[in-house]
Amino acid sequence: MTTCTVEHYRDPDRPRGTADGYVICGGCTTGLQRDLAALPKLHADLVHLHGARRTGGEQTKISGSTAMPLPIAIDVAEARTDLRTITIAWAAHAHRAASSTAPLSGTVPSAARWLAVNAEWCARQEWAPQLVAAIRQIRSRAVRLLDPRPCQQFAIPGADGQCVRDNDAAPCPGRLWVTIPANEEESSTIECDTCWHSYPPVSWLRLGKLVHARRVAA
Ligand SMILES: [Zn+2]
Ligand SMILES: [Zn+2]
Repeated sequence: MTTCTVEHYRDPDRPRGTADGYVICGGCTTGLQRDLAALPKLHADLVHLHGARRTGGEQTKISGSTAMPLPIAIDVAEARTDLRTITIAWAAHAHRAASSTAPLSGTVPSAARWLAVNAEWCARQEWAPQLVAAIRQIRSRAVRLLDPRPCQQFAIPGADGQCVRDNDAAPCPGRLWVTIPANEEESSTIECDTCWHSYPPVSWLRLGKLVHARRVAA
């Protein structure tokens, strides 16, 4: 078994093994699919940020002139262009490497969907760590621009924070993390940093019972 070389933000010192034939760990493959699924909406939402910021103080003033600030935000435009260019470039690269004959159009939804559908295959290619890092970077950049308020995140301490799921019949070695988004309309989640299983608030009671049962059994 080899070790996943992608940088893991949560509990970074714990090595993550890769399954036979895979270059990245299962958590990174799932994370890649989730990031890809988020890209089309992020790409669309960034457009509206230009107008929303027009009254804010973040526009770029044309230097040396008395002209009005540009009605676009340069950092938003760059993030949006990068999101599109990088997603399409990676999809084209993987599409070529896979000798796929499936049609691939040059749009973010199409490129992201193709990569997501083929994520398991991508996870077995030597360039998988670079793909994961690139997609993660464009996603988190867009997320930060759309809502720069930091969300709160912490690991559930002690034995109660161990994931309750099984991976291939062995207990998942991951830890459970709580994320409380800054946006009050979004709900908090509990999520494993390894198998990426996530528990929405409706399932916390059940999760609590599983944790309790394990405590009693220990
Ligand atoms: Zn990994
Ligand atoms: Zn887990």
